[in-house]
Amino acid sequence: MTNKQAAITIIKQLRRNGFQALLAGGCVRDMLLGRRASDYDVATNARPEDVIGIFPRTLKVGAKFGVVIVLNKDRQVEVATFRTETGYADGRHPAAVKFSSAEEDARRRDFTINGMFFEPFQKEVLDYVGGQTDLKKKIIRTIGEPAERFDEDYLRMLRAIRFSTKLGFKIEPQTWSAIRANAEKITRISAERIAIELESILTHPNRATGVSLLLESGLASAVFDGFGAEDAKFAVAVLGQLRKGVDFALALAGFFAACQTKFAVEKCRILKLSRSRYKHIKFLLDNRGKLLDERMSLADLKKILAEPYFRDLYELQRAIQKATLPGRKGVAPLIKLRRRIKSLGDIELRPSPLLNGHDLIRLGAVPGPGLGQLAEEMYIAQLEGILKTASQAEKWVQKWLFEHKNR
Ligand code: ATP
Ligand code: MG
Repeated sequence: MTNKQAAITIIKQLRRNGFQALLAGGCVRDMLLGRRASDYDVATNARPEDVIGIFPRTLKVGAKFGVVIVLNKDRQVEVATFRTETGYADGRHPAAVKFSSAEEDARRRDFTINGMFFEPFQKEVLDYVGGQTDLKKKIIRTIGEPAERFDEDYLRMLRAIRFSTKLGFKIEPQTWSAIRANAEKITRISAERIAIELESILTHPNRATGVSLLLESGLASAVFDGFGAEDAKFAVAVLGQLRKGVDFALALAGFFAACQTKFAVEKCRILKLSRSRYKHIKFLLDNRGKLLDERMSLADLKKILAEPYFRDLYELQRAIQKATLPGRKGVAPLIKLRRRIKSLGDIELRPSPLLNGHDLIRLGAVPGPGLGQLAEEMYIAQLEGILKTASQAEKWVQKWLFEHKNR
């Protein structure tokens, strides 16, 4: 069963119980565009308690706001009661919801193209907000007065740019002016919600256009205070060169490609990303330029090849090169690097050390910081191919200990 089939089955059942039920919002937009929708939401005049009564398996997480999740086989469908939202005290959450009609429910939605319903049996579009016209014109336009609608929820400014990026639609001039006028207020929105929108924009193949909009609107500098015009220009150029499918961390590294790592990592803190994301971004930015060094030692090459983020580092560097120098000139050092990697053949990049700590102590090393240094130097000699067997390593260690004895 697909998400769509699950939603339609639920609509059927609600209607059998005498309620009005429709597909709503993003899925209607995507169906009309002939795109696959990410989720199929149902809107109904049934109250949450009715919905809970009709379906045996439900999750009542948002029932207070009129949203019930209905479980159908392995699918989850959001079933929301038609509602108006009132009293946005903080530009974030509605203070209260009032159950209402389909038309009023359409009007509380953000953009005209997101404000339509679809009746799946008569195959009829219910459009109270001019969504179909804007869909044809390829326009993102708020439902109602843009400034008022952004005042209710400033996240909508980022959502406008996300939909423009994803669909390749233009943002209608008045909607755009209101975004520019209110961009600074985006910081009133929680880091997590901002991060979700930025991730959608930056990981989309059309990310260079999306980021241009973030920059022109003033949203980028509102979120990342101190991000300069030159940084921005380079960001767009690098992001335009990255391959289609990229992770958020790689895209953020591309975004900050002209900046110092310290500045970039500090700015990313605002987004409250996971620790592994920070590590990923920091690794990519810290190691910018390294792959261009033709004289990199064999040990350093093996170490960097064994890094889990090596491929992303290569991709970032490739994009930086292409953004900096046109044609093949920029990527020439990377082509050399690839040849060098190929010539290594099928080697083990991160072999176990020929001797472990116990072996080193047995050979006379004293536990402490010196032991770590000895182990590291021995390992480098091993990666360089100087040491191939344990007995070679033992001899090498004995010599090292002798040389370091009187220091
Ligand atoms: P996607 O395909 O990315 O899921 P979507 O349009 O379905 O896009 P959702 O965030 O899933 O977006 O929200 C579903 C619908 O709920 C939207 O189409 C819109 O009608 C409404 N909506 C969501 N967020 C807001 C908001 N912040 N303000 C007003 N309406 C919203
Ligand atoms: Mg959706």
